[in-house]
Amino acid sequence: MNIESLKLIDRRYSIFVSLVEEVKADAQFTFSAKDNLVAKGFDATAGSMILKGYKPPFDATPVRKMREAGGFLLGKTNMDEFGFGSFSVNSAFGVPKNPFDLNRSCGGSSGGSACAAAIFDNHVSLGVSTGGSIACPASFCGVYGLTPSYGRVSRYGLIDYGNSLDKVGLLSFRVSDLKKFLPVISGVDKKDPTSAMQPDLKLGQKEVKSVAIPMEAVVEKNISKDVLKCFKNSVEMLESMSIDVEYVSMPTLKYSIPAYYVIASSEASTNLARYCGMRYGQQEGDLTLKFDEYFTSFRSRYLGKEAKRRILLGTYARMAGYADKYYNKAIRVRESIIADYKKQFERFDAIVTPTMPFISPKFDDISTMSALDSYKVDFLTVPPNITGMPHLSVPCGYSEKMPIGLLFTSAHWNEDVLIDIAEKWDLAFDVKHADVVI
Ligand code: GLN
Repeated sequence: MNIESLKLIDRRYSIFVSLVEEVKADAQFTFSAKDNLVAKGFDATAGSMILKGYKPPFDATPVRKMREAGGFLLGKTNMDEFGFGSFSVNSAFGVPKNPFDLNRSCGGSSGGSACAAAIFDNHVSLGVSTGGSIACPASFCGVYGLTPSYGRVSRYGLIDYGNSLDKVGLLSFRVSDLKKFLPVISGVDKKDPTSAMQPDLKLGQKEVKSVAIPMEAVVEKNISKDVLKCFKNSVEMLESMSIDVEYVSMPTLKYSIPAYYVIASSEASTNLARYCGMRYGQQEGDLTLKFDEYFTSFRSRYLGKEAKRRILLGTYARMAGYADKYYNKAIRVRESIIADYKKQFERFDAIVTPTMPFISPKFDDISTMSALDSYKVDFLTVPPNITGMPHLSVPCGYSEKMPIGLLFTSAHWNEDVLIDIAEKWDLAFDVKHADVVI
């Protein structure tokens, strides 16, 4: 692929926030990275106008490792501002279009990454998930999306959303890429203490024998008919692969959305405090103003609506007098959800649900959704994310020519189970390419 065709594709699908100037003809493989992972030579905006023009002087660890493995970075992929969203419509730099239908979303917040994974050959994309941002777009764009255990991949060089939740992972059309590049990006990094305590990644040693379906998650009234039908077929396929499937009860799952949005917004509101117009990105402001007037005018001007909402929500939840009622309570809820999962992993190798409750929606429909509506659509992807457990979305069917995803979660550090599932699934299921039009 040359730079002209890359630019043409980008013009049509709005995949990138920034692109290379020339494509290296003899690269071993190409990769892309979500725009909240910094990379030398590329601006890093995390989809926000407030960071426009920010030129990071170093590579995020996962980016550096991909480059050292022979990868050529094509560009930084479009995303919801700071990761706030599920449809990539909250970016300050255009909206990525679904490769299966330009009127529909790529999902979010790693929408550009999923689009790149669906469109380019011999390509793998680095995504980031806080509450589902790898699985959701993988599902909507019909590719594999792997979110490793929290702490498996260094977050050094990641523009944080929620530090206790953020995980860097992989999106690709090919399972072989997940197996090849997970070990590349994983590992202890002195620059990120949360990566320090990980057990070794041993792929190819564990086989999936049993999976559980939490009945609280797979409820008819919350999931569209086509996704439910596809889910049932997928369960039959798992059984035909000699995997035991059993329904179980996980009563804490229903608390994961409220707990997640309290924790994620609280962490986001502190993380975003550093964007004050004096350190990164945009800096031209009226310096004759008083300190807090300067910050206010700057942040009012350059932060998007959803980012402001998260700052307000998060600041409120952490306020003296409210912290016990919201933030500290949410932390305790998270512990109960983790315990619920752990209990299931005493008997099962993985948990399976649909990834998203519907196929990718049209932009017209997204524009009528309230903030709460769009938070609620994450009810299947937020639970594994809030626990920090690894999970994988695989393409499992099509409806109205749009892909549907199936979500597997395994116990902390058991990515090997997910890779085993992905390999088996890929042999049994025919993943379709989108017809890419330039
Ligand atoms: N949709 C969720 C949110 O807006 C998750 C996004 C993410 O994982 N970055 O918080």
